[in-house]
Amino acid sequence: MDISVLGAGNVGLNLLRILKEKRDVFRSRYRVDINVVSVSDSRTTVFEPNGLDLGEVIEAKASGNLSRAEAKTISFDEIFDIDNEVIVDLMPATQDGVRGRDIYMKAFRKGRHVVTANKAPLALHWAQIMEEAASRGKMIRYEATVAGGVPLFSFRDYCITPSEVISFRGIVSLTVNLVMRMMARGHSFQEAVKYAQSMGVAETDYRDDTSGLDAARKTVILANSLFGLSMSLNDLYYEGIDEGKRYRSSSRMVSTVSVEGGRVRAESRVEELSQEDPLLSLPEESLAYIIETENNGKLMVRSERDGPLETAAAVVNDIVIMAREIC
Ligand code: NDP
Repeated sequence: MDISVLGAGNVGLNLLRILKEKRDVFRSRYRVDINVVSVSDSRTTVFEPNGLDLGEVIEAKASGNLSRAEAKTISFDEIFDIDNEVIVDLMPATQDGVRGRDIYMKAFRKGRHVVTANKAPLALHWAQIMEEAASRGKMIRYEATVAGGVPLFSFRDYCITPSEVISFRGIVSLTVNLVMRMMARGHSFQEAVKYAQSMGVAETDYRDDTSGLDAARKTVILANSLFGLSMSLNDLYYEGIDEGKRYRSSSRMVSTVSVEGGRVRAESRVEELSQEDPLLSLPEESLAYIIETENNGKLMVRSERDGPLETAAAVVNDIVIMAREIC
């Protein structure tokens, strides 16, 4: 399966490394061959019809210039004219999600499937994107958009098929929680943001995290996907970090979605967690959620650590699932 990768940053470079290292395993274990035919960053798109040498691409990007890889360069728009089956979006979120939405709509129209880690298009244009994919018979997978590497949508699709999800409660955004917890320990807002940036987990514009927007985008996506809704960001109550506030060690940004009396409640807000709450004891770099299901009981899924590597692994998993469905 030939894929085009948009974005070669924290997640993109980890993704290329995993695809390079695991190619033989994917061939022998799953009988799929994943070939990266193009990689784009904000300035350059490199292309090789028989598959890029990923080691070279990683090295070129590390040296500061993707075009140093021994490959053709093409314009960004030409990714729709080359032979690829899947477009993988690892670009930063934009405020209106329009750029990503338009790329996905064009991809579906031109017969491509989409895998994305970019939340903005789905949080703002869910119905339009899903309708276009369905009408063109194309797939979109988006595991990494919510809770980084913690499986949620693949878990729903492959592990709890006999159940509807009745309620969701979770810590799905790392940076906002990390910053609040560091502030509770006496660090300044700026110090905490700098630390999150150094770990590669902050959004390209960190204010997306600290304003609560990133957690809100995730809450919209999970509400739509798990509960069959067509919400947009405007339909959701959410809050962010107050830079002047002294947070407690029990303060967490929690996403909650539930159905009560036929009405859906979805919100992303700062809660004071009790000592008995399983979400309280999570390590700082960890994400988790608890779901109540119809026939699979109450389940908690958590990571010990989350970051760009784990996010990239979730994206690769979506790509492998897609390859297995197509082949
Ligand atoms: P980075 O900012 O590290 O990387 C973004 C990449 O996209 C860069 O290579 C950048 O190019 C490229 N890019 C920017 N604008 C364009 C453009 N117009 N055309 C082509 N390429 C472009 O972000 P991350 O890798 O951290 O995140 C990528 C996506 O994954 C984001 O949507 C984020 O929300 C999501 N995500 C990230 C997580 C994480 O832990 N980091 C967790 C979950 C989701 P250049 O290198 O030239 O600047």
